[in-house]
Amino acid sequence: MQALYWNGKQARVTERPDPEASERAVVRVSLAGVCATDLEITRGYMDYRGVLGHEFVGHVESGPEDWRGARVVAEINNACLKCDSCLRGLERHCPNRSVTGILNANGAFAERIAVPVENLHRVPDSISNEAAVFTEPLAAAFEILEQVDIQPDDYCVVFGDGRLGLLISQVLHTTGAHVTTIGKHSEKLALLEARGIETQLLSNWEASPRQGDVVVEATGSASGFARAVSATRPRGTLVLKSTVADSPPIDLAPLVINEITVVGSRCGPFAPALDALARETVSVEPLIAARYALAEGEQALAKAGETGVLKVLIDCSG
Ligand SMILES: [Zn+2]
Ligand SMILES: [Zn+2]
Repeated sequence: MQALYWNGKQARVTERPDPEASERAVVRVSLAGVCATDLEITRGYMDYRGVLGHEFVGHVESGPEDWRGARVVAEINNACLKCDSCLRGLERHCPNRSVTGILNANGAFAERIAVPVENLHRVPDSISNEAAVFTEPLAAAFEILEQVDIQPDDYCVVFGDGRLGLLISQVLHTTGAHVTTIGKHSEKLALLEARGIETQLLSNWEASPRQGDVVVEATGSASGFARAVSATRPRGTLVLKSTVADSPPIDLAPLVINEITVVGSRCGPFAPALDALARETVSVEPLIAARYALAEGEQALAKAGETGVLKVLIDCSG
């Protein structure tokens, strides 16, 4: 089969062996999405080698009979289900896990992918492939609601108007809390304004900053940390959503002085994400910037890496 393979130096569309079905379901990939993590991997993050991609929707081609033919999305943390973490229900933190397209498991920029059956979720008919492909990043946004109890009278500040920042802002907005999203691109912030979410250009916000009860750092840049700390009120909560390959020096003193709770936040639950897509309480399709065939996978990565480009999709259906 064709796949976009990262060999540690280059990402190339190349011929790869078909995945084997043993104890897994093989999914014929329809559509996949390029994520910042894919780009970080090509800069050295996780020291991964293999087929890239972890955001996808497709049909089960082989596996248990009741799943065959189903249109599915799949969670990306492939847990052992035996260790202490797994037995406590923390499969996404299993120390023995592989992670699709990120750690010891081939990814979704391919004609086919093998995934554990327990990671599959059926996609309701009302959700298009173009929306369903956002389930994984949207679930990562919903993870914040699993971790932080956000009240309707909370003031939330989201830094970042990239792919993840736009999803997080909409998810926080579903709680009824007041959300202000701060970014550098008025055309992207306009997507949120259209949903009734307040936005500010970074330069304006810096001129008269207002501290948040809950602040989310989702700029994807290592330098955003100090700004996000200063935007968090004393005893407030700072949620870190950016995974970046480089690690700059950080000053922890303000966290102590202001007694700020810092929450690291990564992958999240698929069920509320699928539910939000089905009920259209979040809007994802306006985030689609470009679409490429799998054979043009290298161009798709390059496009996703350009500044200001939102979601790039890869059509794997051939
Ligand atoms: Zn991702
Ligand atoms: Zn485990």
